[in-house]
Amino acid sequence: MGGAHMKVFYEADADLSVLTGKTIGMVGYGNQGRAQALNLRDSGVKVVVGNRDDEYAKAALADGFTPVPIPQAVECGDIVMVLIPDEVQPSVYESMITPHLREGQTLSFASGYNVHFNLIQPPRNLDVIMVAPRTIGREVRHAFERGGGVNADVDVRQDFTGSAWATTLALAKGIGCTRAGAFHTSFGVEAELDLFSEQALWPALFECLLTAYDILTEKGYPPEAVALELYASGEAADIFRAMAENGIFEQMKFHSPTSQYGVLSRQPGATGDHEQLVARMRQTLENIRNGQFAREWTREQEAGYPKFDRLRNAAWKHAINRADQDVRQLLDAGKSACAQASS
Ligand code: NDP
Repeated sequence: MGGAHMKVFYEADADLSVLTGKTIGMVGYGNQGRAQALNLRDSGVKVVVGNRDDEYAKAALADGFTPVPIPQAVECGDIVMVLIPDEVQPSVYESMITPHLREGQTLSFASGYNVHFNLIQPPRNLDVIMVAPRTIGREVRHAFERGGGVNADVDVRQDFTGSAWATTLALAKGIGCTRAGAFHTSFGVEAELDLFSEQALWPALFECLLTAYDILTEKGYPPEAVALELYASGEAADIFRAMAENGIFEQMKFHSPTSQYGVLSRQPGATGDHEQLVARMRQTLENIRNGQFAREWTREQEAGYPKFDRLRNAAWKHAINRADQDVRQLLDAGKSACAQASS
């Protein structure tokens, strides 16, 4: 049996009272901002939301916060949580955060990306920490409301005050993450693993899904039935959920022997030449680790996203989008017929 070697923090490791009398200056009220602000407030922590006056500010207002401009949230925060999209953080940091920082504050990130790739370089006289939930904001909130929480990666990059770890764990607790387990990784590990699954794992899975769709529809299988089989029924999502809860191979027990034999007997090289996949994944990882991807993405943003727009247009033109709409219509028709029958 292998041992579990990572340091993981749970409820008893964190003390919420560290945040008593402190104010959180929350920069951004989007996916993570809203969920984390609500959870922290429910945990008894004072939160001031910083956002420009628009839809997100309206959402904050509707939730009972009084949004202020970002610089003001930075000034009044003992802890400044940067919860805006990674690609806008460097410029917002320069223009609206850094001029208002003061010695001894805590700067908290929900992803390691900008600090790890040196796109944001905080001054030495601050605590710099990370509490990065491992899932989408909606689930950060829902899990908390159910009395649970979601996992997070946590790290202290800079401990100026000597209490950065206590603050990190208290924040993780206030957000609900120590209920599930806060994993001590690092800004680098968090950022690089995230990019790797986005750039190596998901493209391979997408390629498999699209190739399967193309081949099956070419052979005359109905597009809606293909979409249903591949992902639209939710079976694929159920399998991933079972992998998370039971284990990659353990979840196979929920499938028939025919299915198990099919999966196991066809597996080696299922995505093509195995050596090619290994080489592709290694190269992707190397480009993430040496900063090449971060530089490419910064250049793309500076150029106004020409390649990103081209890629998105092409993706949305794929025939599978049509099948998506059609199968959704059929599934929705089933749901509304069911609702009518029971009313
Ligand atoms: P969102 O896209 O939901 O952020 C929207 C918020 O950012 C709004 O408040 C918006 O306000 C503000 N914002 C957007 N552009 C600007 C700008 N140019 N200037 C000022 N404010 C701006 O972000 P997420 O919640 O998805 O991500 C926040 C952080 O959380 C990131 O570091 C991300 O990596 C991390 N994270 C995200 C996860 C996710 O599933 N989404 C999971 C785990 C971590 P407005 O437009 O009104 O200015």
